[in-house]
Amino acid sequence: RVKEKGKAHFQFYRTEMKSLFTNVVSLETQLRKALDRNELILYYQPQVELQTGKITSFEALLRWNSSEYGMVSPADFIPLAEDTGLIIPIGNWVIETACKQIRDWNKQEGNKIKVAINISPKQFQYSLVETIKMALEKYKIQPSLLEIEITEGAMHDTSETAPILKGLKELGVAISIDDFGTGYSSLNYIKQFPIDVLKIDQSFIRDVHNNEKDAAITTTIIHLANSLGMEVIAEGIETKEQADFLINSKCFKGQGYFYSRPISAEELEEKKIV
Ligand code: C2E
Ligand code: MG
Ligand code: MG
Ligand code: MG
Repeated sequence: RVKEKGKAHFQFYRTEMKSLFTNVVSLETQLRKALDRNELILYYQPQVELQTGKITSFEALLRWNSSEYGMVSPADFIPLAEDTGLIIPIGNWVIETACKQIRDWNKQEGNKIKVAINISPKQFQYSLVETIKMALEKYKIQPSLLEIEITEGAMHDTSETAPILKGLKELGVAISIDDFGTGYSSLNYIKQFPIDVLKIDQSFIRDVHNNEKDAAITTTIIHLANSLGMEVIAEGIETKEQADFLINSKCFKGQGYFYSRPISAEELEEKKIV
């Protein structure tokens, strides 16, 4: 009896596993087709000067409008893309599309519209510097209009990371650390690497105006950035209270739903935001 029960349980487990497996496989199959089917799209979230609300730049955020699953969040498909190697063609598409967008938005004399893109540490292993150099040349854009966002996860293997960051710096693109303070936090890499911007993670901003620890961490990051001559950007600003706290703490740039959600290039143009 015990054996039978065990067996039944085992089979049940297997069935669950199988359907889970099938789902992952088909998600992967669909993701493989996403590029060819033009199902990927970049949305852009304004980054603003907190005191005036004036837009200084945009962060490009990837969206997958899947024919099978509907809108899939990058939080759900980027890890799969990283595990399957699909992050390379997808990441290259992001680089290409963002550079083309920078070209288009800066056609008018005097425009200086900057765009930041998110780069997965996995992309470091596949001629990232060369890919970005080629895109900058293809679209003839000023390198300083492109910013590369990397997370602390990319800092693990410093011997591998150092030449890539140096190469990017030599191209003239800006480098920022995304989700600062939530990953592998060693202050040593800030000293070693040419970092231009620290982005304060939204988990610290959420309760910044009424949680002492979040406030202390946030003001410390701002102070660190300011005293090292780096720029600092707060993420996930949803209320005026958060914005006021940041301004009073000498953080002058940010992004979040309080200012704007990420929206399509089309909508930005329709609303005459760019
Ligand atoms: P991230 O780079 O830290 O981007 C910030 C995330 O916070 C975005 O989520 C954005 O939509 C969301 N956000 C912005 N303002 C607010 C706010 O006021 N409140 C809240 N609650 N959230 C806000 P999204 O677009 O879902 O992207 C999630 C993550 O996926 C990104 O985090 C980034 O790590 C990754 N990702 C997005 N696009 C790309 C890409 O092109 N390549 C790579 N490798 N990763 C990407
Ligand atoms: Mg980012
Ligand atoms: Mg972030
Ligand atoms: Mg994040």
